[in-house]
Amino acid sequence: MAKSKPLHWQEPETINCPQCNGSGEWRGMFGSGPCAMCDGTGLVGEDGEALPPHEIQPILRRQRDRLAQELEGARQHYRQLLHTPGVREALAAANERQQERQREDDMAFRKRLRGG
Ligand SMILES: [Zn+2]
Repeated sequence: MAKSKPLHWQEPETINCPQCNGSGEWRGMFGSGPCAMCDGTGLVGEDGEALPPHEIQPILRRQRDRLAQELEGARQHYRQLLHTPGVREALAAANERQQERQREDDMAFRKRLRGG
């Protein structure tokens, strides 16, 4: 089976898009949208020019995979935490305190509405 593509693809060097500072978002005075300079990817080539789609796509795919891995790692860490003695109880207590605060806020708000 003949391969038409080289086995080792060199990832092009990229820098954060100077236009949107790597966010991929363009913010104007009257709105926002994807940055036109980097096509909303937040990345441009070393020379400051947007990369063609076939070069930017693998980079974005790898970034996405890396993020997914990090997220999965965080999830596992969280699951482990939940199995640590005392953590569930602490979470429940914090939750309870938060609800309590919310109820107090609601009550204070209603009181203000009544003019009390
Ligand atoms: Zn940009």
